[in-house]
Amino acid sequence: MHPATEHIESPDGLWHKCEGCDELVFRQTLERNLYICPSCGNYLPFPAEQRLSHIFSTGSWIDLFPTSAPPSLLESLNLADLVVQTDCPNLPDRIIAAGEGEISGCSTILTVIHPLAPLQRLHFVTLLIAIRTALLKEFPLICIYSNDVVLKLNATDRTPASEMSFAEITYLSTEMGKLSEARLPQITVLTDANVGALSTRFPTGDIILAEGASATALTATEQPLVDAAQTAIESTLEAPNTDAFIDRYTPREALPETLGKLLDFFAKARGTST
Ligand SMILES: [Zn+2]
Repeated sequence: MHPATEHIESPDGLWHKCEGCDELVFRQTLERNLYICPSCGNYLPFPAEQRLSHIFSTGSWIDLFPTSAPPSLLESLNLADLVVQTDCPNLPDRIIAAGEGEISGCSTILTVIHPLAPLQRLHFVTLLIAIRTALLKEFPLICIYSNDVVLKLNATDRTPASEMSFAEITYLSTEMGKLSEARLPQITVLTDANVGALSTRFPTGDIILAEGASATALTATEQPLVDAAQTAIESTLEAPNTDAFIDRYTPREALPETLGKLLDFFAKARGTST
């Protein structure tokens, strides 16, 4: 973890200090409040695995973390050997989580990359499992990550913090591209609210959402969301754009509902085009 941005925790782990307002927040309160500071509304990092449980509408979802993914699935993805070779540290907070489950009745693959950790082999393998499962089962793919992760994935703007090789990033980009070829929706959610546009060569999919508690997020109607989704479908076959723009800001608590509406929209559009 980066020392400047790691949130301060009491030695017994019961209290967190919010870097937005310096208030001490009881850990259980924070968990109940989706890691949003009850005093100032600041968004604290939401642990990757807990985020899966928050977004999937059913209590049961299939864990796609390398050590937990069903062996038969890994075999059919041709990834069993790679997973065996990968060191998967059993940390209390996962640096990446992935799962297969349902949001508002739509089956989907969801991956969450925890902010601030250097990208490593574990990210590569977990993302590969997620992308290939989406391709195999013809499910949409949702990726949640922060801006710092996008920058690390940008092959032309690599930082020393990235431990993922250029070849691995290129490989992931190609695999992501297969989702578009198969006309499977791909949704990116950025957990940094203050983003206008970012430059990236890593595929960010059809729709980019950003988490934010801004007034526009709270008052926006559903119409622009559907418009954005329609535009995304129409431009699927265009050349990849190197400038990614935020299509919509969504408060953290509304993210499951917003994703559910998008998935439902894409499922209906897909149903009418085939
Ligand atoms: Zn606060």
